[in-house]
Amino acid sequence: MTANGSFHLSLMAGLMMILGSSREARADRHCQRDFIQEVRACKKAFLRCVCPVCPRAKRCGGKESLKSCTGAKVTACVATRKACFDRARPPREACFRKHVAPGWERAHEELLESRKARKAPKSGRLLDPTKPALPFFILAAPPPGPPTPIFSAVSIALAASSSCSGVVVPDQSGFNKRIALTFDDGPNPETTAQVIAILKRQNTPATFFINGKWIDSQADRTIIKQVADDPMFLLANHTYAHINLAQQTRSKVASEVDSVATTITGTGEPQKFMRFPFGSSTCTTMQLVRDRRLVATGWHIDSADWCFSSGGGKCKKETFKWVPDRYRSDMKAYVLSQAREEGGGILLFHDIHDNTADNLEAIILALKAEGFSFVRLDDAATFPKLNGVAPPPPPPAKFVGDRCTAAVDCAFTSSGAAGFCHARGFCSLTCNGTCPDLAGKAPTFCIADPGVAPARGVCVSKAAPQNHNCADLAGTTKGTLPRFGNAAKTADVCAPKR
Ligand SMILES: [Zn+2]
Repeated sequence: MTANGSFHLSLMAGLMMILGSSREARADRHCQRDFIQEVRACKKAFLRCVCPVCPRAKRCGGKESLKSCTGAKVTACVATRKACFDRARPPREACFRKHVAPGWERAHEELLESRKARKAPKSGRLLDPTKPALPFFILAAPPPGPPTPIFSAVSIALAASSSCSGVVVPDQSGFNKRIALTFDDGPNPETTAQVIAILKRQNTPATFFINGKWIDSQADRTIIKQVADDPMFLLANHTYAHINLAQQTRSKVASEVDSVATTITGTGEPQKFMRFPFGSSTCTTMQLVRDRRLVATGWHIDSADWCFSSGGGKCKKETFKWVPDRYRSDMKAYVLSQAREEGGGILLFHDIHDNTADNLEAIILALKAEGFSFVRLDDAATFPKLNGVAPPPPPPAKFVGDRCTAAVDCAFTSSGAAGFCHARGFCSLTCNGTCPDLAGKAPTFCIADPGVAPARGVCVSKAAPQNHNCADLAGTTKGTLPRFGNAAKTADVCAPKR
């Protein structure tokens, strides 16, 4: 083959590639348009189901006011509504399976990987962290069998790219059973109004991530304004048309975000939070969002409410495979199981689904009964990293038994008691029988402070290996002493020298 021939060949190959990729881009665009249309059809299927024969209920804004209808009208209304739902369910289910589930499968995989990465032991911390560290040469031999990788390849990739993730939240623990409720994809005058009424009744704050596309009526605008004006709620950006931003051009991404930003600013609400549709982002889209000083917000707990809704309360395996079988018909139990596992965090719902609105109050009550409380997303104590605040200071380096020369050395509190520097030169706490322990420190014991009147209990270190049997603690000597307030109990302690 001549040099010229090979040039022509590579030119043709290049041309084919360009043609191929433009064909792909066109197919993508078609797909995207179909998707938006079908999502809209899904939404219309919901709206059609709102009480078409009960004029009073319809006029007053839907289901809530159904209660004000009477007798035969209510019966007819409920029957018509149910028939409508029964008709709408199969196409809606198919619509979710085709257009929503694929995005969600990817988002959920990312969420699970982040949970796995969090649980994997950090390298160099091979022992129980509550046990004192031992010199490396006396570490227990590893158990027989193949070595277990500390991180999977996927979670390494995830860790490297987590700052570009639209799903993973920078705060991963320390929620202290606090939950931030978030509702995506609204507004929908019917269901959003129902959700707001429940949240107000339960005095529960929440954030609404809205799509600009759905604000197409006065009722929508009223809801948006209501959310913006209520200090319990935050209005946040979920883009204009809910398309996968990872597949769009830069200018398209910009217009998707900026359009809703303008809407939110127009309500007078300062805007801070943005959520990528399906949690789908790239480093480029993430940077674009950060350049606008918006905080991309993922989630810790996925209610999968869209799936439960698509199957009329049942999340079918063929729609979304990640919900364990025992929860397939019980969204409340599924949400609770994750809340327990995560200890709180950001909980994702969608306020466009009847099934979500109808189950929300029971879920809130069940969470409250288990000791969970609710905060807004901008609660910096719960989500310090998300809110750009320095995390709370690490626990004090000093504790009971550590050397001190001044009160400032023992600036810790434990169980409500403040640390102080004992006259013998070690940190202590006053006590009445029992003393707290701190992981990694020698265990402690409450004894009568020798030579101090009136009698008081003080916490001292037990004579444990961490203290080299008291030799390391100035001003103390090893002795077997009774517990303050219960002389029957004794312990070997590093007691203050008289
Ligand atoms: Zn969404």
